[in-house]
Amino acid sequence: MVNRIGIIGGSGFYSLLDSPESVNIETKYGNPSDKISLGKISGVDVAFLPRHGTKHNIPPHKVPYRANILAFEELGISRIIATNAVGSLKSNYMPGDFVLFDQFVNMTNGRHDTFFDEDKVAHVSMAEPYCSDLRTIAAVALSNMKIRYHESGSVIVINGPRFSSKAESRFFSSQGFDVINMTQYPEAALAREKGMCYLGIGIVTDYDAGLEGNPQIKAVTAEEVNRVFGKSISEAKSLINNIVPTASKIVNCNCKNSLIGAVVTK
Ligand SMILES: [Zn+2]
Repeated sequence: MVNRIGIIGGSGFYSLLDSPESVNIETKYGNPSDKISLGKISGVDVAFLPRHGTKHNIPPHKVPYRANILAFEELGISRIIATNAVGSLKSNYMPGDFVLFDQFVNMTNGRHDTFFDEDKVAHVSMAEPYCSDLRTIAAVALSNMKIRYHESGSVIVINGPRFSSKAESRFFSSQGFDVINMTQYPEAALAREKGMCYLGIGIVTDYDAGLEGNPQIKAVTAEEVNRVFGKSISEAKSLINNIVPTASKIVNCNCKNSLIGAVVTK
């Protein structure tokens, strides 16, 4: 089987490869967010999928998460690198910073968030949702590139598509979460159910609804997100180009064993 790396582009990140081959894939859960582009980075087979569609016409709560992950599996992908616009809930997570998520908290609702809802029941551990090896590789690359980054971060995932009220944002900050996003759940969880390595890279675009006690920090607008994220896109593309050659050689992490002991159906 092809050992291909899958890349999911978040808001602002709609293309990656030069002259790719595009494939339409239909899964039992329907079509993925868009056509999937196939190509190579440094000789490594990769696939690229824009999470919200190339025209950004799919809101976070309607992203076909299961179809996206299943399509990647059908393409022989076992490692995923995903970028995400995030709002900051802490003053030291500054706009333009990169964040390597190590935990998520799900506050979404109504999303199809498991592959085990038919004839087989499985309780997959989500204690460590993100691949530790891919996070280490990304941290080394970010360090070499001299990009400001955080080697860990808890992301709270809200349903969207609206942003938070000030009270919600104050509550999330008070709970100790670092950043906020609308798409890490169930994407990361579904990848883990498939035993895939998943790296979630957050790019801080704003301070959510502002930060308490700092009137200089204003609430987020979609325009501000696009402005800051646009500046960070070229950095994100370079980062992915740097990560892919090393990421294709991972052998140590435990992600692929996620189903061992998890299936309870006889
Ligand atoms: Zn892994």
